[in-house]
Amino acid sequence: MNQLPHIIDSHCHLDRLNLSTHGESLDAALDAARQNGVSHFLCVSIDLENYPAMLDLVKDYPDVSVSVGVHPNERDCEEPTAEQLLELAKHKKVIAIGETGLDYFRVKKADTDWQRDRFRTHIQAAKSCGKPLIIHNREAGEDTLRILREEGADAVGGVMHCFVEDWETAQKSIDMNFYISFSGIVTFKNATELKEVAKQVSLDRMLIETDSPYLAPMPYRGKPNEPAYVRYVAEHIAELRGISVEEVAEATTRNFFTLFNSARDNTTSNATN
Ligand SMILES: [Zn+2]
Repeated sequence: MNQLPHIIDSHCHLDRLNLSTHGESLDAALDAARQNGVSHFLCVSIDLENYPAMLDLVKDYPDVSVSVGVHPNERDCEEPTAEQLLELAKHKKVIAIGETGLDYFRVKKADTDWQRDRFRTHIQAAKSCGKPLIIHNREAGEDTLRILREEGADAVGGVMHCFVEDWETAQKSIDMNFYISFSGIVTFKNATELKEVAKQVSLDRMLIETDSPYLAPMPYRGKPNEPAYVRYVAEHIAELRGISVEEVAEATTRNFFTLFNSARDNTTSNATN
């Protein structure tokens, strides 16, 4: 079997994986991913209540980094202050702020002031600690870009995670110092417009992710997703662009460490403070 080049799962929720096919062992799931070429994992925070347990779960793995933040779909949870996020972001495992952003799919827009306030809090925290942002946007592209602009988020940049918008939104995001991350959605047959975006985005602005346990790529669509499957995203993008998977792997890995430059420190030492 061909040894796959190193790839990175730039967005996964390791504390939420369905581990039934791995004997309920996170170790085994991570090993399966490593055997599929995955050399680093960014485990993304969704709320503060589960954050300590998430950090505890992954803190001894040198190839796992984390973010801290509260997802825009988490309505009834502890509301983070910028000070709180900054305090948590001091931990050396934390390489990003998020995931944060806007989601008008699940909540009516008229009732989303709290989402926009929370989003601004995250951007302010990211700017204060100099760590990039992980942006979630669902059916809220215009407001997301507007708030990023108003808050000067280009100073830290970040990633538009699980990107599903059009080329214009991709272009505007890149202009604001953001990377575009493709998930398993790009492998879906009906994702025609997204495939076009994946062909057009400059290789040096692209990241890949699973968003596992959600959104499994083809051929596992509808099943629980896991970090090992990020290879299918890389392979599909390579196929779309008519280039080798090595090129996609090399570019997205380099981009990851350029954007999240503190992730390197986690790979070189056993980060357990
Ligand atoms: Zn996510």
